[in-house]
Amino acid sequence: MAVPFRRTSKTRKNKRRTHIKLSVPGMVNCPECGEAKLSHRVCKACGSYKGKDVVNK
Ligand SMILES: [Zn+2]
Repeated sequence: MAVPFRRTSKTRKNKRRTHIKLSVPGMVNCPECGEAKLSHRVCKACGSYKGKDVVNK
């Protein structure tokens, strides 16, 4: 089995991993208040879902 001749440097490793990043889960802007929220979830900021206020305070 082939073995790497040289140890991969931190720089080289980090350069290779520039393409690996966390992906942001489906974020949309709330149609009611414009706040960023998860799609198919009740808006945290104004408590609305599908144009209706579903969180009664
Ligand atoms: Zn909202």
